[in-house]
Amino acid sequence: MSDGFEEIAGGLAAVAKGFHARGWLLGTSGNLSAVVQREPLQIAMSPSGADKGELRPEQILSIDEHNHIVGQQGGKPSDESLLHIRVVKQLGAGAVLHTHSIWNTILSDFYAPQGGVKIEGYEMLKGLQGVPTHEHAEWLPIVENSQDMPALAETIGDTLNQHKAAHGFLLRRHGLYSWGENLAQAKRHIEILEFLLETIGRTLRIREQVL
Ligand SMILES: [Zn+2]
Repeated sequence: MSDGFEEIAGGLAAVAKGFHARGWLLGTSGNLSAVVQREPLQIAMSPSGADKGELRPEQILSIDEHNHIVGQQGGKPSDESLLHIRVVKQLGAGAVLHTHSIWNTILSDFYAPQGGVKIEGYEMLKGLQGVPTHEHAEWLPIVENSQDMPALAETIGDTLNQHKAAHGFLLRRHGLYSWGENLAQAKRHIEILEFLLETIGRTLRIREQVL
């Protein structure tokens, strides 16, 4: 086990608690990961079925690039680990976070016919890495949900190739994925995208009531 693992596991547990408190990881949903080392790839990953509000650092699993547990821990890796591994390998991300908020679930369905959500003109966009102005137009692609994780990982890989500037993607009626160079940046990206999605969702509701 690498030296950094315990520190990273502690960081993942802290982020999980915070996101759970905001209602983004209820009912054991969602998952969190961070790269421990690249060669060979070792990822610290939240286990399947764990209550994210009570996640302890010692529950965090260490997995390799094939989603096999490294070392002698108990626990089962999430099936969605394959999606995390894909994002890490394809984009060189240092951390990948996945939330199931009410607003990301609603908007992932509402905008599915358009294939994504266009987010434009908000100051909060500047919290996304490399975005210098609120005039930026962020495209958040929406991918159809599936339980076939190897196939879904392929679809996501293709989608991210087509949208190289994306900071995240939505799975339809399922949730949000975002990432960063490290855990702090990935957490920031999730917070920014959740904020913007909720803003868009609430705006649609107000318009509905006014018209
Ligand atoms: Zn999920």
